[in-house]
Amino acid sequence: MTSVPEFDYGIVGGGLQGCLVAHALAWHRPEATVLLLEQADELCGNHTWSFHETDVAESAKSWFDPLVAHRWPGYRVRFPTLSRRVKIPYATITSDRLREGTRSLAGGAGGLARPGRLVVRTGESCDILAPNAVRLGGTADVSCRVVLDCRGRAEGGSPGGAGYQTFIGHEYETARCWPAAEPTVMDVPADQAAGFEFLYELPLGPDRVLLEYTRFHEEPVCPESRAAALISARLAEAGAGSAKLIRTEHGCLPMPYAAPASRDGPSPAGGYAGGWYHAATGYSMPLAVRFAELVARARPDRVAAEIASAAAEDRLRRGFARFLNRLLFCLVKPEDRWKIFRRFYRVLPEERIARFYAHRFTVNDAARIMIGWPPIGLAPIRFARSFVSLPGPLPT
Ligand SMILES: Cc1cc2nc3c(=O)[nH]c(=O)nc-3n(C[C@H](O)[C@H](O)[C@H](O)COP(=O)(O)OP(=O)(O)OC[C@H]3O[C@@H](n4cnc5c(N)ncnc54)[C@H](O)[C@@H]3O)c2cc1C
Repeated sequence: MTSVPEFDYGIVGGGLQGCLVAHALAWHRPEATVLLLEQADELCGNHTWSFHETDVAESAKSWFDPLVAHRWPGYRVRFPTLSRRVKIPYATITSDRLREGTRSLAGGAGGLARPGRLVVRTGESCDILAPNAVRLGGTADVSCRVVLDCRGRAEGGSPGGAGYQTFIGHEYETARCWPAAEPTVMDVPADQAAGFEFLYELPLGPDRVLLEYTRFHEEPVCPESRAAALISARLAEAGAGSAKLIRTEHGCLPMPYAAPASRDGPSPAGGYAGGWYHAATGYSMPLAVRFAELVARARPDRVAAEIASAAAEDRLRRGFARFLNRLLFCLVKPEDRWKIFRRFYRVLPEERIARFYAHRFTVNDAARIMIGWPPIGLAPIRFARSFVSLPGPLPT
């Protein structure tokens, strides 16, 4: 290995986190040489990454905003006995948009390091050998001043214990206009016997909609027939004429409750690999953008230290998010879980909702989320006791 690093930054993993880091570096460090490595044949997979616009710091907007594919001024949630419009702007980045934007940073750079031009290599798995060295395809070693582990979720699930969010999403082109102009982030059917489940609706254009079935459950399995039934019922109710299926996405996200789900390795880890996602909501965007900003603004020799210090500062919030999962999966019966989310939207004003999703919530916010009436807030004594001992997961 040569003593002068071939690249300033080597990003391993070209999913959400890896691509956001590439964009933040292109903006804040245009002189840097950056290598982005992805084992799949293409960057970014097949996702629709939504977020509250309040998740993204003003300082990140210059490089982040061009990546946004769809925006809405607010969204709706629907529960049995509660319907609410939340006036927090909501937005989405699609895999296609992020892939295109990241490819445009690469231009025609080829495989050689050149300041201001991202080098992208796909189709080869990569090992991280040391804080400044990666191995491509099991043979070729490349030296980088800073290596970042953005390899996503490790195979084999979460350490310690988790429930799961599973999804099946169908994107349709409809013959007539879709009746809703804004997303419905949770449309919760009255029958909740199978655990907390809901339909997520994202109008992507006048005649395009993504309908996604989501379930929070002990089992990492999505009930396909139930998903199909709820999606068909919504299509019929919307009255938008015949619907042509143009894309599907599916996935499973562990919601850890026992231990931090981060991978130990020689390099700083971002995204899911480093625990830079919201354990209680499953949204990655707020923390992935924060991680990208941290990397790009830190001096290269300070990147690891700054990331470690930011993670330490966020430790209590991460612990609280996992604690909420623990309550959800260990304390509350599957058929009652939806009431926790209904209460969240019933009692919280918009600024607390925004801080919660953005992973910037305060101690006061945490207390308001947990304690009080109506169901299922915990009375103060039960709240205190729940930190000390919780039963194992409830049988379903
Ligand atoms: C169906 C679904 C819907 C979701 N919706 C949202 C949402 O609306 N909003 C939101 O914020 N979050 C959402 N999430 C969560 C979010 O998608 C993930 O948490 C996020 O993608 C994590 O980003 P990441 O970069 O860490 O991992 P990933 O996006 O999974 O990227 C990791 C990349 O690393 C690559 N890789 C792995 N190992 C290697 C290796 N050895 N060498 C080279 N490359 C490697 C992988 O191929 C992959 O491309 C959703 C998740 C699912 C499953």
